[in-house]
Amino acid sequence: MIDQFGRSIRYMRISVTDRCNLRCQYCMPTDVAAVCHEEVLRYEEIERICAAAVRLGIVRFKITGGEPLVRKGCAGLIGHIKAIPGVEQVTLTTNGVLLGAQLDALCEAGLDAVNISLDTLDDELCARITGSRAITPAQILALLEACCAKGLRTKLNAVLLEETLPEAVSLAEISQRLPVDVRFIELMPVGFGSSMKRVAPDLVLERLQARWPDLHPTDEIRGNGPAHYFAAEGLQGRIGFIDAVSHKFCASCNRVRLTSTGLLKPCLCFDSGTDLRALLRGGCTDEQLTEALRAAVYVKPRAHRFDEQAEITERRLMSQIGG
Ligand code: SAM
Ligand code: SF4
Repeated sequence: MIDQFGRSIRYMRISVTDRCNLRCQYCMPTDVAAVCHEEVLRYEEIERICAAAVRLGIVRFKITGGEPLVRKGCAGLIGHIKAIPGVEQVTLTTNGVLLGAQLDALCEAGLDAVNISLDTLDDELCARITGSRAITPAQILALLEACCAKGLRTKLNAVLLEETLPEAVSLAEISQRLPVDVRFIELMPVGFGSSMKRVAPDLVLERLQARWPDLHPTDEIRGNGPAHYFAAEGLQGRIGFIDAVSHKFCASCNRVRLTSTGLLKPCLCFDSGTDLRALLRGGCTDEQLTEALRAAVYVKPRAHRFDEQAEITERRLMSQIGG
């Protein structure tokens, strides 16, 4: 559907849980009280919202969290969303800890693509960043290979941190060995990310261009949106940058977010949203749900204000929003 600023909104990120089995520094470094189960949308409720979204032309869905795979039955949900007529694709973002055990079920459910998060190739730094030894970089590399072997479109997401900057080339080299897009994500000033030092993506680009002098921008669309990509001879995948702060892409933003408690958030930067759970549990019809969704998406703000700390009203953690 088209929002008040003429943007075509086609993509919804759905957080299925705010719980996680890791404690990443920039996301959920310490235990936070988890939302109780009754407050979390049931899978049937999420499916009803997806069906309403499809009626409005929102036909691509990303399953995220917290860690989506800690919630039982995630593959079943993906299968059900895929079965809604009109759905174009359902993809997943995961930290990988439970991916090996669930990969077959996810593929059988029809998962279209997977993003796996890994910020460093160093075991000790990985443990420090994720606050856990639940998964090692070597295990993530094996998972990337397994996903490619299954024919899944596979991407690696690395949040750019001061201490991982020296590894930018090594991380990017994964796209040389495997047909995987390696994407560097600029730290966003949401939750704990707001108190951490941001690394300019251009610093990474300089290092990568020293390693691959023919690295050049490409207009290819690879997925749902905000990353801009670079290609080079010899790279099987692409190098992507998601730099929402330094290169604002709000004019072409195509997404909305659904939190695990049913808040439809039109922009990451602001705490405002529409409580779809209240509507669902109040007994709304499908038509009423669709109209509420239409109204919520229509008022999507023109742009984020991440460059002005005082204007950022979102107080939730990334793990509570879904990234
Ligand atoms: N647990 C899953 C994972 O880590 O992939 C899915 C949820 S996580 C919130 C989604 C993405 O958001 C991850 O790639 C994570 O690295 C990223 N992320 C979390 N906090 C961030 C922040 N403050 N700035 C930028 N990216 C962030
Ligand atoms: Fe968990 Fe993902 Fe947040 Fe890390 S980034 S704490 S894995 S939700």
